Amino acid sequence: MLGFGTLAKKVFGTPNDRKVKASRPLVAQVNALEPKFQAMSDEDLIGKTRELQGRAQSGESLDKLLPEAFANCREAARRALGLRAFDTQLMGGIFLHQGNIAEMKTGEGKTLVATFPAYLNALAGKGVHIVTVNDYLAKRDAGWMSKVFAQLGMTTGVVYPFQQDEEKRAAYQADVTYATNNELGFDYLRDNMKSSVDQMTQRDHFFAIVDEVDSILIDEARTPLIISGPSQDRSELYITLDKFIPELSEEHYKLDEKTRNATFTEEGNEFLENRLRDAGVLPADQTLYDPESTTIVHHVNQALRAHKLFQRDQHYIVRDNEIVLIDEFTGRMMAGRRLSDGLHQAIEAKEGVAIQPENVTLASVTFQNYFRLYDKLGGMTGTAATEAEEFAEIYKLGVVEVPTNRPVQRRDEHDRVYRTAGEKYAAVLETIREANAKGQPILVGTTSIEKSEMLSQMLTKANIPHNVLNAREHEREAYIVAEAGKMGAVTIATNMAGRGTDIQLGGNVEMRVMEELAKTPEAHPDEIRAQVEAEVAAAKKEVQEAGGLFVLATERHESRRIDNQLRGRSGRQGDPGRSLFFLSLEDDLMRIFGSERLEKVLSTLGMKEGEAIVHPWVNKSLERAQAKVEGRNFDIRKQLLKYDDVMNDQRKAVFAQRREIMESEEVAEITADMREQVIADLVEQHMPAKAYAEQWDVAGLKQAVIEQLNMELPVDEWAAEEGSNQDTIRERIQDATDAYMAQKVEQFGAENMNQIEKQVLLQQIDAKWREHLVTLEHLRSVVGFRGYAQRDPLSEYKTEGFQLFERLLDGLRSEVTQQLARIRPLTEAEREQMMRDYLQQQQQTEQSMHAEHEDAEVAEVAGRIPGFDAEDPTTWGNPSRNDPCPCGSGEKFKHCHGRLA
Ligand code: ADP
Repeated sequence: MLGFGTLAKKVFGTPNDRKVKASRPLVAQVNALEPKFQAMSDEDLIGKTRELQGRAQSGESLDKLLPEAFANCREAARRALGLRAFDTQLMGGIFLHQGNIAEMKTGEGKTLVATFPAYLNALAGKGVHIVTVNDYLAKRDAGWMSKVFAQLGMTTGVVYPFQQDEEKRAAYQADVTYATNNELGFDYLRDNMKSSVDQMTQRDHFFAIVDEVDSILIDEARTPLIISGPSQDRSELYITLDKFIPELSEEHYKLDEKTRNATFTEEGNEFLENRLRDAGVLPADQTLYDPESTTIVHHVNQALRAHKLFQRDQHYIVRDNEIVLIDEFTGRMMAGRRLSDGLHQAIEAKEGVAIQPENVTLASVTFQNYFRLYDKLGGMTGTAATEAEEFAEIYKLGVVEVPTNRPVQRRDEHDRVYRTAGEKYAAVLETIREANAKGQPILVGTTSIEKSEMLSQMLTKANIPHNVLNAREHEREAYIVAEAGKMGAVTIATNMAGRGTDIQLGGNVEMRVMEELAKTPEAHPDEIRAQVEAEVAAAKKEVQEAGGLFVLATERHESRRIDNQLRGRSGRQGDPGRSLFFLSLEDDLMRIFGSERLEKVLSTLGMKEGEAIVHPWVNKSLERAQAKVEGRNFDIRKQLLKYDDVMNDQRKAVFAQRREIMESEEVAEITADMREQVIADLVEQHMPAKAYAEQWDVAGLKQAVIEQLNMELPVDEWAAEEGSNQDTIRERIQDATDAYMAQKVEQFGAENMNQIEKQVLLQQIDAKWREHLVTLEHLRSVVGFRGYAQRDPLSEYKTEGFQLFERLLDGLRSEVTQQLARIRPLTEAEREQMMRDYLQQQQQTEQSMHAEHEDAEVAEVAGRIPGFDAEDPTTWGNPSRNDPCPCGSGEKFKHCHGRLA
């Protein structure tokens, strides 16, 4: 009997079916226009573009222009590339334009699909970004598709690392720009560190089409993009703090053996507060609980950890005036590895060796928050459905499964499970041998580089020629993977390798043509193409008869999506194909999820040595295990996002403010407002509105006016006058300051003064913001420790992050006011010196800036969770007691780091 759900689907169709159905009339409209566009001349196609641009820019909706735009684009692609887009490709284009993820299988021609919505949306004149996973693909796709855009009278740009700003700017000015997610994010961050608008490279964030959207918005989104540079020298602080730790006694701190955390007790805090005040590190009126103390608390914590958790000759050695870490489990020295967030410096201080500068974040953003900048997003991938919930929740993106152009013929077999890895690999080898004997091309998938290499050795021993891909050299690997569909080819690849290049049976025509042309440049391209096409067609037939591409996976990946990606490499465009997964009880995934229970069930199913179990129950329970890991990874990304969201609003506010300043003709109003606020605060601070006259701190106010406003005013006399109060004093200070600043404007000239004000504002915003980012990082680690006091770290982080931001604004106002009150005309020589210093500093910062993003690909292949550090228990979260210990010892957590003292 059919369940109600299944029955309902039969009658009404799935929601997906309805979306697909709804797009058909639009596809029909485009088809109806085809003969008309085929009859047009090349100039007419460009003329059509100009007409559509005019209509779009005078307010006609893009939806309305869609049929004509798509018809024009289809015809242009037919002429420029010789490819006539299938109806399913138009459909994909429609979903992208509507701001969805179009799930389209490998080989369905997604590169071409993107040109349709890109062209349509570029008509609005704000530029469209097409986002790829690596630079090789950005260049390849831009090179290929620029022919279509040129045929339509539109420009194409491509952005890549280390490109001159000039070129970048031109690329972003193009109608359609190809770039990787990393480069887009870094350009955004770098733009917001520039000192004038015309130095910025990007323009609007209007519409982005993200190719391999699951890789980019999910796998890579686990770590933020960071631009970092050396911090100011803090050696003094490390050395000062270090001295206090040996003075502590046992009641001052607690060591948590389980998580290897060290925290201060109430007594410890009190003791430290006094010592820090005596040492002048903590101002007299400040406690360790104030948000201003975040950085100090962070570094004291690190000093404590350095002393109590890191033992010389066990965790590190001292060699040549340097700390060298030791891998606890192998005993190897890890030269060059440094602990982050000031921990390494704390150990250096403890050992009295040279303290090396810390690298700090100058700017950072997560992909989640970068891509949310766009007015509209669209995405393409072969595998999105399993992550539909995350796309909807984080990016408001729907997923639509686009039907394949031809029905899928691939045979997906049930998993084969063996008892041991040894038995599994023996079976893998046998299966490869059999298929290879028929000449069937085989793609062997592995989950790590090490395993690829091990398999490669096995095949070499067995005399089976093969290629190995590790997702390291994108371009070279693209060529190899393109040939993986040839007769007799055996290709071993980690899951990510050769992404974005599809495997065509018999060989890849485009790549072969390019190769042949490179070999014989004098030959006629059309003749070469015809020759290659004929050869490939013949070869294809042979491969089809041998069963098409055989995808053989040696393990299941943590996420179902990656397994599906691998499977999907076979059976493109209705080709025959086969996919099969080999597993063993010793696989990581099995080990993590209770292989004991699994083993029991399997032995009742009759598992024997050397024999595989094939049973749907196994597939089901593995998928459940995978869903669990996927869920955990989603949680990690959500957590990252929640923390980044706190900063995101602030970042947006700061970037917007910077931009406003850069774009303003005049900033006098901004600085005057700041001054007014500073004066009001000063007066309120020294003569609170509610206080009696005898409680006023007039002398303090007088001194503060000298410091902040650079004026000696008879504040004491004013205060002594009959009837004076907070308001009258404030007004008189304000008037005196206005006059003083007006005098400066006179002296410098209004235009000059305006330039100076702009510069001071931007410099101060940047300096304060960078300081703030570092403090936020520290706050994050500090609230992590506080988690033990049963407070929710995230809400603490939010509250204090907000307070710190308010302090930032206070500090900014006061710094800008002080500096402007102190400017004086410079001599020619001084001016030149200043300019030189400034340029030098700017150059130094730029040279020492690193753009960093831990490549999810590499992390993934190495089987790691980005952000997770096996050596740093504070990054482990809360492992459950029966899980394997995150340190990698292979023991259960409860028998290793989780052992109760
Ligand atoms: P995907 O990214 O969906 O795997 P690609 O964009 O790499 O696919 O395209 C796969 C292959 O399909 C390319 O070699 C391309 O030339 C071919 N192709 C794409 N669209 C068409 C079409 N409409 N007609 C014929 N071949 C096409």
